[in-house]
Amino acid sequence: MNKHNLLLQNIPDFVAHLQTYGEVHAPCQKGENSFSFEQVTDPSRVVLDYARTLQSIRKYFLPPTERLLNFSLTDNTFTKVAIENNHRIFLGVHSYDMKAVLKLDFNFSHRTPEINYLKRRENCTFIGVSYEPDDYHFSRSVGITVENTEGFDLFLDRHENGYTVQVLTERGTEITKDFTALGEALEIPEISRQFKNKIKFNYNRLPEVMEQSWNSPVWEEVAQRCVGCGTCNLVCPTCYCFNMVDNVDLKLTDGSRDRHWDGCLLSSFAAVAGGENFREKLASRQRHRIYRKFKYITDKTGDPWCVGCGRCTAYCTAGISIVEIVNRLSDEFEQTHLRKSSAPVGQKIQGVSL
Ligand code: SF4
Ligand code: SF4
Repeated sequence: MNKHNLLLQNIPDFVAHLQTYGEVHAPCQKGENSFSFEQVTDPSRVVLDYARTLQSIRKYFLPPTERLLNFSLTDNTFTKVAIENNHRIFLGVHSYDMKAVLKLDFNFSHRTPEINYLKRRENCTFIGVSYEPDDYHFSRSVGITVENTEGFDLFLDRHENGYTVQVLTERGTEITKDFTALGEALEIPEISRQFKNKIKFNYNRLPEVMEQSWNSPVWEEVAQRCVGCGTCNLVCPTCYCFNMVDNVDLKLTDGSRDRHWDGCLLSSFAAVAGGENFREKLASRQRHRIYRKFKYITDKTGDPWCVGCGRCTAYCTAGISIVEIVNRLSDEFEQTHLRKSSAPVGQKIQGVSL
């Protein structure tokens, strides 16, 4: 692996250089305190030192809303909408958001491949950047370090005067080889980046915790505060549920089939014909969200489906913290096991004869 040094003052030139290889999409300031991945037109607007973007780069591969096809009811024909997949370079991606893309790749490629998603994933180059964990990040608790380079072509690790650039793939070599402002890599002592926000159990144990948490009072307590707005789903880089709607014109001759993001915290999510709703209560919807992240897919893959970005907590309308929920369930789990192990032989606890 080759390493180089990139000085802060050379970043706009580096962005302009990347633009000769394809569209560059990078974090830009949005409003006073927010950041958003946008197509770069002015390299000086790129911000590499940011905590998190409102949306992850998931929005490029699974757009919030998209037309899948147009149809005619007159002759019963349909036409699929063509998918654009220009060469795109994603600059300034955090390791947890890259990992989220790799998880979505799994979701959309095993069993029946999802053609639109996979088409948009072609021709992409990913350039990662390190970050300073804030009060919400907890990605190390789910096995993703700040410096995790999986999925990246280049990785930019911040130091005092700039970045150490790690070249990780042939594509990374190709897009850096003619950029003459890259200097020789400096001898930088390893930076120790601490996460204040932590899940108390190793993530491998969380499916076991969830297994025993189905009837926990925590779900109802969280539901008392939750307003069911669905923000936690909509900002999550690993959420991928969607709804399909057929829209027919007023003449009832033509229409379109459209796909929109959906979210399991929304009351309509599990509603079906006949007025039934499988998860009518907010408590059951909260439980479903947490089980989707730490049990259902984890049971199949061995990995948590949360990447510890902290968005669902940072942007929650009611200040609900996913780490607090998981840690409270872990505390309950621990207490139950402590009681079981200290109970006299033969005493019955929770229906189990010891
Ligand atoms: S963002 Fe917060 S208030 Fe809104 S549905 Fe999610 S947990 Fe509930
Ligand atoms: S569940 Fe929350 S912390 Fe985990 S990946 Fe989704 S938004 Fe990020």
